[in-house]
Amino acid sequence: MPEPSSFQSKSVTPIARRTVLKAGATLLLSLLTQGVANAAQFVAVRVWPAPDYTRITLEHEIKLKATHFLIKDPNRLVVDIEGVDLDAQLKSLIAKIESNDPYIAQVRVAQNRPGVVRLVFDLKEEIRPQVFTLEPVGEYRHRLIFDLYPQNVPDPIAELLEKKYNPSRTEDRSKEDREANKTPGNEEKDLQLSRVITIAIDPGHGGEDPGAVGKGGSYEKNVVLSIGRRLKAKLEQLPNVRVMLTRDGDYFVPLHVRVQKARKVQADLFISIHADAFIEPTARGSSVFALSEKGASSTAARWLANKENAADLIGGINIKSKHQHLASVLLDLSTTAQIYDSLKLAKSVLGEIGNINRLHKAQVEQAGFAVLKAPDIPSILVETAFISNPEEEAKLTDNTYQDQMADALTSGITKYLSKNPTLSRNKLT
Ligand SMILES: [Zn+2]
Repeated sequence: MPEPSSFQSKSVTPIARRTVLKAGATLLLSLLTQGVANAAQFVAVRVWPAPDYTRITLEHEIKLKATHFLIKDPNRLVVDIEGVDLDAQLKSLIAKIESNDPYIAQVRVAQNRPGVVRLVFDLKEEIRPQVFTLEPVGEYRHRLIFDLYPQNVPDPIAELLEKKYNPSRTEDRSKEDREANKTPGNEEKDLQLSRVITIAIDPGHGGEDPGAVGKGGSYEKNVVLSIGRRLKAKLEQLPNVRVMLTRDGDYFVPLHVRVQKARKVQADLFISIHADAFIEPTARGSSVFALSEKGASSTAARWLANKENAADLIGGINIKSKHQHLASVLLDLSTTAQIYDSLKLAKSVLGEIGNINRLHKAQVEQAGFAVLKAPDIPSILVETAFISNPEEEAKLTDNTYQDQMADALTSGITKYLSKNPTLSRNKLT
């Protein structure tokens, strides 16, 4: 097979995305007025490496058309993009592949023939690629996405067990673990569980989807991951509790995949962590949500659920694979019993959060959040504070507040578990 004719060096200076966006638009305009064809530019190139999959995003002024194929011995993924020219932005991809990327060893980029750019990814193992395009949405222009999934997916339950009993993996978050090692409260010490309880913690957004962005520049996706990791470390101190994070890095996890991950490890509880945002910067306070079967409990709750459910559009999912997946999952089953338990859990958690922050609403609210739809797992969504409120943004990025929030969530969960020690899951299978 033909290889790229020339390879680019790794010393390409990265260019800020916004600058390029402006420069690209200006250039496009000036070229259009001169009547020059084929002037469209790459706007940005992003790489999101993660154990689940590595994503490459090529953002362009126009919709890109790509074909791809795999080669073995050694494993390579070849992508041809039509109707574009190699430019500095695309070349910057080479330097953006990190040596610790789980799946990509390196990428080579070259003009394969006039009007066709070829990317060759040298792979670390056999992968299953998904290549798809996304229409402009939010701040993004046209996106061409390559998601590189491992051909051999590790068993999530085996991974969970290994993680629980292998402390060496937590090197990079020893701080959270140290803080979690404080003496637990009375209810934590007295917690008696007749069996091992699995709790899924779901830090919202990630990767292409930053979630809400504060005036001070903090991203919801980073804040909620930090709180989620703290919560995990604290919950793992409890006897007979094991914890799974649906996302433990800066990459996007589609909403239905979060639910699927929790169900694969047979989670007993699902806790989704978010930070709220509103146009009005004075909006403030924490809130806790459960699923609703018959309409939202308020207009605000419906608005928020719609906003959170739009994550898949920004984060970017391959519609084809989503439909294949949903056809095989029983998401239409009744959630009546689930909601009953979720409301109890939500009340317990809301009560504890009320001790550390003002509450946005004194009651648990309900709406049709996509991540809360596992029919067999009590599931709640916590809006930890308003990132759009400058005072609360400062709290959300503060170690002490993050820790207090994780403590409050732990207490709320513990109290719920003590009152419902048998926790009968309505198993579907
Ligand atoms: Zn969110």
